[in-house]
Amino acid sequence: MNDTVTISVRHLVEYVFLSGSIDARLNAIDTMHEGTRAHQRVQRTYGEQDLKEVYVKADIAVDDLLFAVDGRCDGLLGTEPLLTVDEIKSTGGDLEQITGDGYPVHWAQALFYAYMYAKEHGQAAMRVQLTYVQTETEEERRFVREASFTELEQYVHEIALRYAPYAQQRRKHEQARNESIRGLAFPFETYRAGQRKLAGAVYKSIEEGVRLFAKAPTGIGKTISTTFPAIKAMGAGMLQRFYYLTARTTTRAAAEDALLFMREKGLNLHAVTITAKEKICFQEEVRCEKEHCPYADGYYDRINGAVLDILEHETVMTRPVIEAYARKHLVCPFEFSLDLAYAADAVVCDYNYIFDPRISFKRQYAEMKKRTALLVDEAHNLVDRAREMFSAELTKAPFLAMQRKLKGLHGEGYRTAKAINDYFIALRKQSDGAPHLTLRQLPEELVALAEAFASAAEQALAAGNSGSGGGLLLDTYFAAQNFIRTSKLFDDRYVVYIELSKNDVRLKLYCLDPSLLLRQMGKGYRSHVYFSATLSPVSYYMDMLGAGEDDYTLAVPSPFSKEQLDVVIKSLSTRYHDRDESKLPIAKLIIELMDKRPGNYFAFFPSYAYMNAVYETYMELKEWSVPAGTASDAEVLLQRPDMSEEERDRFLETFQGGSGKSLLGFAVMGGVFSEGVDLAGDRLIGVIVVGVGLPQLGVERNMLKDYFNGQGKSGYDYAYVFPGMNKVLQAGGRLIRSETDRGTLVLIDDRYLQGHYQRLLPEEWRG
Ligand code: SF4
Repeated sequence: MNDTVTISVRHLVEYVFLSGSIDARLNAIDTMHEGTRAHQRVQRTYGEQDLKEVYVKADIAVDDLLFAVDGRCDGLLGTEPLLTVDEIKSTGGDLEQITGDGYPVHWAQALFYAYMYAKEHGQAAMRVQLTYVQTETEEERRFVREASFTELEQYVHEIALRYAPYAQQRRKHEQARNESIRGLAFPFETYRAGQRKLAGAVYKSIEEGVRLFAKAPTGIGKTISTTFPAIKAMGAGMLQRFYYLTARTTTRAAAEDALLFMREKGLNLHAVTITAKEKICFQEEVRCEKEHCPYADGYYDRINGAVLDILEHETVMTRPVIEAYARKHLVCPFEFSLDLAYAADAVVCDYNYIFDPRISFKRQYAEMKKRTALLVDEAHNLVDRAREMFSAELTKAPFLAMQRKLKGLHGEGYRTAKAINDYFIALRKQSDGAPHLTLRQLPEELVALAEAFASAAEQALAAGNSGSGGGLLLDTYFAAQNFIRTSKLFDDRYVVYIELSKNDVRLKLYCLDPSLLLRQMGKGYRSHVYFSATLSPVSYYMDMLGAGEDDYTLAVPSPFSKEQLDVVIKSLSTRYHDRDESKLPIAKLIIELMDKRPGNYFAFFPSYAYMNAVYETYMELKEWSVPAGTASDAEVLLQRPDMSEEERDRFLETFQGGSGKSLLGFAVMGGVFSEGVDLAGDRLIGVIVVGVGLPQLGVERNMLKDYFNGQGKSGYDYAYVFPGMNKVLQAGGRLIRSETDRGTLVLIDDRYLQGHYQRLLPEEWRG
């Protein structure tokens, strides 16, 4: 019996006909017009007997494979004497530049549709038409061919044959993978407390195709407890792939470690990690154009060979593995990792590859999504991250700069940049000196101006006509595109926020409630598992992350005993107006604490300003009150906002146990040291949390508060208290990391004695 390969026409032909180079300029322009109004405009000109969006499918046997191919052709025209398959392609470029009679990949797609229709309906021959549309001028150019059924059949067979080596490799791998999963036992001797519960709930959620919101504390092995059941679900045929989504690199490394560990136990799984383009780029400057980067030049000519090679020889494809193969095949490591993601069983990456409409994977078809699960680690971070993804802003300064740069070089570019700059000048006049304005209506005029600018920028970029301002033009073009795209999402969950200063004007389409858009972006996936040690209160996170009524929740208790942790609440006001007065008592308290029990401590603050102020007071006090060379004479580290990755690593490496000396790290809540940091045993024996973590009072936060108040919810909690307390829980969560850890947690703020805040503390911190 043949093995069946289910694949869409587009996927198949794109694989076979890939060629050429990466070009950030053209990519931006090409992808913009996918399935746009231009298609609909052409389709509206069809006659009564013509059909649009016609679904076609066919089975094609090649060697031992059976390709089950399907797709949707743009038009089926009832032309005489032959029916015509019409394939529409839109472009912002010049139609005269289309060489020959259209592009091979477009012909391949149209010929496939023609074959499938002819086969299903017994047609002896078909007409095949490519319709190219210029999006601005609405100009059209058509190319037509005729082919007999035999010719079509021969053609599609040849194309499928070219895909076969990849499909065969995939089949072979899937068999080996499933066999290895069948033999894979839980990779530890025993389940830790809570681990079986979480793993079982993840499996059940995947089985039933629902979302799971799991509060799973530190120490239960969340990564294994979510990946293992997902892998088992894959072995049972429920999943083809899962994404392990994270907000930071450290948690990505934990996922890789779990997969590597299971590989040692016999698992054969293709897993790929996606590293941000700026980090993994081989070049000094990220400039993805063939003239500037050899890894971009001819990328698509070499990529299929590179993918086959790495999949043949590797399983867990971490950053160094990808880099090695990228160098070997001279392909861009970032684009390579994206291409590999389409072929992998597991993808470890940032949230935005799924949820951000600007960069999410575009070639994921409905069938594939139905067999994919999303495992969202540290899901509490997704609320604010989603707000960023769905918001967009424009500022005046780059348009003024473009206006100056393009003057005399590109008339349309100059005019449209000037129009936006003038719009901002007018806004400033209207504001009458107010530092900010808010609107509930979409600024349609600015959207139209941004569209005109984007179109002119495309022409200037395509013609290389931007003088020395090419980089800025591309950035401004992306900002305009993002703004246009976001304007299409604008509804009553958004507000327009305008900030006016002497030097600039900023207009932001600010997404207040991301829940609906998160739902839309996550639509079609079989299951979502949102988990975090601090998904609390869970009702808030379910609301913000777009939960439905049938979704599950799970709260796994801490595996550690209460005796491991001493919690001290110090009733002191850390409110903004009391901060000056609080510095000295806090500094004294830290010294006393370290005097009683020398060792390594972290003190977390709600802001850099507050942290620096207490740091200075502490240093002065320490100088005259702590004898030098004693165990409580701590080495002191101070977090800075601009620390490099190496500096951060060095900061954390200083936290070593067993030295007999003391160490104190001053850091901010919500920063790199207060989440995802694992300092077990004596590496950390105490944490001091100053304040209740509330975000700074500000216009944007107040907008959130007002919006949620208007929704009948507690706006202050949604905007301030819940996000703030989450940071507290994360910071305090650094302390007890294993069954043998012991530590002291000091919470400094009088609000910790109030019932409302007490209820937000974990069970083991109360009382
Ligand atoms: S290596 Fe860097 S510059 Fe070259 S294509 Fe990749 S990301 Fe762009």
